[in-house]
Amino acid sequence: MADLETFRAEARAWLEANCPPSMRQGAVAVTEDDDGSIWGGRKAKWKNPEAKQWLDRMAGKGWTAPTWPKEYGGGGLSNAENRVLQQEMGRIKARTPLMSFGLWMLGPVLLEYANEEQKRKFLPPIVRGEIRWCQGYSEPGAGSDLAGLRTQAVDKGDHWLVNGQKIWTSYADQADWIFCLVRTDNSKKHEGISFLLFDMTTPGVEARPIKLISGQSPFCETFFSDVKVPKEQLVGKLNGGWDIAKRLLQYERQNISSGGFGGGGGGYDLEHAALDYVGKDDGRIADADLRARITTHKMEARAFAMTVRRAEEESKQGKGPSAATSIIKYAAAKTNQDRTELMVELLGTQALGWEGDAYKPGEIAAMRGMLRAKGNSIEGGTSEVNLNVISKRVLGLNDAK
Ligand SMILES: Cc1cc2nc3c(=O)[nH]c(=O)nc-3n(C[C@H](O)[C@H](O)[C@H](O)COP(=O)(O)OP(=O)(O)OC[C@H]3O[C@@H](n4cnc5c(N)ncnc54)[C@H](O)[C@@H]3O)c2cc1C
Repeated sequence: MADLETFRAEARAWLEANCPPSMRQGAVAVTEDDDGSIWGGRKAKWKNPEAKQWLDRMAGKGWTAPTWPKEYGGGGLSNAENRVLQQEMGRIKARTPLMSFGLWMLGPVLLEYANEEQKRKFLPPIVRGEIRWCQGYSEPGAGSDLAGLRTQAVDKGDHWLVNGQKIWTSYADQADWIFCLVRTDNSKKHEGISFLLFDMTTPGVEARPIKLISGQSPFCETFFSDVKVPKEQLVGKLNGGWDIAKRLLQYERQNISSGGFGGGGGGYDLEHAALDYVGKDDGRIADADLRARITTHKMEARAFAMTVRRAEEESKQGKGPSAATSIIKYAAAKTNQDRTELMVELLGTQALGWEGDAYKPGEIAAMRGMLRAKGNSIEGGTSEVNLNVISKRVLGLNDAK
């Protein structure tokens, strides 16, 4: 315990000295492309040099990936130390130094499944935010039935030749590399899939943005035409990609549940927005019905946050995340959708703005956030599919007849 308090004092002093002032203010989401988050990567446009400085300083300590081993660029912290670090960052409202599919999804499975050479090649640039990754899973006709995927990788001796199409590939147009599920055996379904990594600038890769109802284009159709991928970029066993794919989904579900969901509320919190927009009655939110619903939502959100925390702790103590992440992903989608809908309701006509000066950025973001949150019950596995996973793998129930 004394060690932990020493660590807290050191972390506090370091954060005070190194977290730039503009990185201590909450980011108000306006658009998805410019939501104030730091995603890094080769294409990053640094509007605020302090964001890059903050990323570099945190990455230098390995604190963008606090619990990853030091030999791969991570911070080498224990879970308890990491908790202290997060508390200290929260204390000064430090912004997350790096948002990254590499940190949340790919890195953890590389640590489990990749060979030593792959770990040394791919993990440190993830920690430093140099390479931004996208996820090539879904295809037209292979979403919930992911193992039905048809993108082919053919063995050409010294390389794989990849042909096919992915869809809903988040940020494919912004990403530098893709982790991609490909079919390497047509005779088997699940046992014919492999897990391949490749550079998005490889000839034959094309990403075409798709527009969402929120007005943004956070994802793409991604086409592969005769893409040559070096042999050594296959992770794990040939035709053994399905196990890696499922494991990665557990990390994805765990992460989106603990705050990585798209679809914010415009930077307002419900209670303060209600006091401002609905008005006060003796210091309380004037509308009794709204007051009750906001209170219920806040209680559920608090209980949910505590459950996420418990699941994360269990996951860190044990063998990583389990099928139980489906419970949390399901609940996270519902909680975020409830919150963003409530926000739009209490902003009233001020939530109807789409663009222009008549509305505050937070008001515009509230409506766009609510629309974006509709995707929460689809991305990372739909709510229906997660309920199936819960009934089968968590509750041990039989398939419905
Ligand atoms: C915002 C967002 C970001 C995304 N980002 C990515 C990404 O980066 N990379 C990527 O690869 N994919 C991504 N996806 C795709 C996502 O994983 C798929 O949309 C999802 O898995 C559902 O697949 P589908 O769209 O093909 O729908 P379908 O599988 O066709 O499902 C259609 C409907 O049928 C229901 N259904 C299907 N099967 C069953 C079943 N067995 N039991 C009960 N109901 C069922 C579903 O719940 C759904 O309501 C993203 C999606 C969204 C919305």
